[in-house]
Amino acid sequence: MALLLGWRKEGGSVMKSFLIKPVLDENYKKISHGKGVFLYDEDGKRYIDGSSGAVTCSIGHGVEEIIEVMNEQAQKISFVYRSHFTNEPAEKLAEELARVLPGSLNFSFFVNSGSEAVETALKVALQYWQEKGQYRKTKIISRWMSYHGITIGSLSLSGHTDRRFRFVPLLDTSPTIHPPYCYRCPYDLTYPDCQLKCAAELEVAIKRIGADHIAAFIAEPVIGAAGGAITPPHGYYQRLKEICGKHNILFIADEVMTGIGRTGKMLASEHWNFVPDIVALGKGLSAGYTPLAAAVVSDHVMEPIVMGSKMIMSGHTYSANPQSTAVGLAVLNYIEKNQLVSESLRKGSILLNELRKLQVKYSIVGEVRGVGMLTGMEFVSDIFKRIPFRKEINLTNFIVMKAKENGLIVYPSSTGIEGDSGDAILIAPPLTITEEELQLLIDLLDKTLYEVEKHLQV
Ligand code: PLP
Repeated sequence: MALLLGWRKEGGSVMKSFLIKPVLDENYKKISHGKGVFLYDEDGKRYIDGSSGAVTCSIGHGVEEIIEVMNEQAQKISFVYRSHFTNEPAEKLAEELARVLPGSLNFSFFVNSGSEAVETALKVALQYWQEKGQYRKTKIISRWMSYHGITIGSLSLSGHTDRRFRFVPLLDTSPTIHPPYCYRCPYDLTYPDCQLKCAAELEVAIKRIGADHIAAFIAEPVIGAAGGAITPPHGYYQRLKEICGKHNILFIADEVMTGIGRTGKMLASEHWNFVPDIVALGKGLSAGYTPLAAAVVSDHVMEPIVMGSKMIMSGHTYSANPQSTAVGLAVLNYIEKNQLVSESLRKGSILLNELRKLQVKYSIVGEVRGVGMLTGMEFVSDIFKRIPFRKEINLTNFIVMKAKENGLIVYPSSTGIEGDSGDAILIAPPLTITEEELQLLIDLLDKTLYEVEKHLQV
């Protein structure tokens, strides 16, 4: 997928243009406005936002209540430096997060992006062990086929080949294990006979490296951008959590994409009954209205830090700014008032059901998966042998573009097969979508897949 990288002045003109024009997307328009689940471009064309942008706008666009809060907060104060003053929206949001999140996830450290939230989580994990005098515990184990962010630290833990390859010399060589990718089991086994060998792999990795060198394990509960909504089998996370507990390793859940109701629970971890030691939140925390993310830390992890150096050695200029935290608070209120977490679960099962009907209809759809309003579709050239399309076909991009032509936005994903050639998309509309709008989304996806198959002549 072509990315917008910046703007420049062209030929002395004051007109702005794209620094790198997206070569693959002729239909790269300026957006004019959005309302609810719909976006409108400069030509007045309407799109249904079937992926909430980058799985971000979970309450839809142009929500008046949020806009009012933004205006009110801007009238009071937009920015204050956190070392000089605290502020009410940040304190209230931290309080509310402690109330709605499970376990003793009671300490919020606010940042501006999911990548920063992950970086903060890593730093907290290392600091935790240092405060306890365990200076050798510095390694973080992650899973190949994961996306934890674009900064060097978070990218080091990500198995997203396309995003990594230019920066490999700067990336830390963190150990990785296989993901719970049952559709293409790395061991060629089937659940439950596999006895969760992919989870047991964590213990093998720990034994190889030595538990006294490992600070934490990090995982996205549902693998989003790098996996097309890979959803683990039951028992998988409990097993991982057990292994981490047994070897004194912290469990960081990267819930940047899955958190704040996206999967039908406040945290996706709750589906599998485990409470992470540290959680990274982003995206849905401010639902796209302002940049906001957070690392949320459990009491037992904070304790040695509070007793020791008394501060988390991190922070950005905009951390905990009142404008963004006021939005986060308003979004959380809106989600609770409209019961969007349970709605996500209910409408998510309708969505999954409809996607499965499309799977039966179209032979390029290998698997449909997901939980709540985070669903994915993986595409194959041979449904029986599960053979991916050749990378040169660039199928994901083609599907995303065709959908866009038809007025539907879906999110390009990949499955990391043969260096990210696996084709997949995410379908993750705002949690506020009505059943009628959901049907429109499905109809447009149906039309898109019909056209794609016709193009491929399958
Ligand atoms: N973690 C996960 C699971 C993500 O999906 C993303 C972004 O897609 C990130 C981290 C990075 O977040 P951001 O793009 O806000 O830096």
